[in-house]
Amino acid sequence: MVLAGDDPASEIYVRTKIKACADLNIFSAKIAPPASTTTEEMVALIDELNARPDIDGILVQMPLPKHINARRVLEAVAADKDADGFHPINVGYLVSGRPAPRSCTPAGIIEMLKFYKIPMEGQHAVVLGRSDIVGKPMAMMLLHQNATITICHSRTRNLPDMCRQADILVAAIGRPAFVTADYIRPGATVVDVGINRVTDVAEGLRLGRSEEAIRRGKAVVGDVHPLDMARVAGAYTPVPGGVGPLTIAMLMSNTVELAEQHQSAA
Ligand code: NAP
Repeated sequence: MVLAGDDPASEIYVRTKIKACADLNIFSAKIAPPASTTTEEMVALIDELNARPDIDGILVQMPLPKHINARRVLEAVAADKDADGFHPINVGYLVSGRPAPRSCTPAGIIEMLKFYKIPMEGQHAVVLGRSDIVGKPMAMMLLHQNATITICHSRTRNLPDMCRQADILVAAIGRPAFVTADYIRPGATVVDVGINRVTDVAEGLRLGRSEEAIRRGKAVVGDVHPLDMARVAGAYTPVPGGVGPLTIAMLMSNTVELAEQHQSAA
């Protein structure tokens, strides 16, 4: 795991991933270049990791410090060590439905929908958000499950009407409690990917968070209004505790698959 800079949230994410590796007896190491590191130094570091036969998976924690060209760094990771499934070659494999490491958050969501026997085939899935790491791969994975897909974003007109058509609504926009009851068809399945910290006490209380958690900076809400979602949806993922842990589980799954692939190649 390569962690450049000193973003406190990234520190926590990396710590959680290291713990997950330890729980599964997977060797992991945190490599933390200083925040002043350059794009060239990051690429050189990734090249070294690419060449190490004892390393099966590499993860570069995002966001990188602003002066670093994140795309160049991510593309430097060898496609067969890409634990996050972000490399363009692996994105291409996803589009063409071939096995490859998958973007972890949407892959976890598919596993969860399967586990809870939420039908996807023939269902209308609306994905709100079109980022490379969540929205776009989510739409592609739902398509591979034979759902009919609509992708919405900041330029979409009549957003509540579009979302209300969904049998499965996936919200990944990074806007606290943005999706309210009028976006949700009664009985729909709602997957809330958002993780947003709430610091305003009145707002947090309105969204059902405890005053203590808000004051300690520990209150989070998703992109969907939690009380509306619980009232209107047929099934939904809570924040925290819904999608987040699955992302880490899929990261471990990608890593194990890469290790098996290297082993069989050897
Ligand atoms: P992102 O890269 O910022 O993309 C946000 C997307 O939402 C963009 O496509 C944007 O549209 C769209 N959007 C923003 N405001 C909108 C609005 N008012 N109406 C309609 N669409 C809007 O975000 P991301 O990386 O996909 O992450 C989304 C959320 O998921 C964040 O809260 C993030 O923290 C969370 N997340 C959680 C996990 C997990 O493990 N649970 C993993 C990854 C991300 P445009 O393209 O038109 O700008």
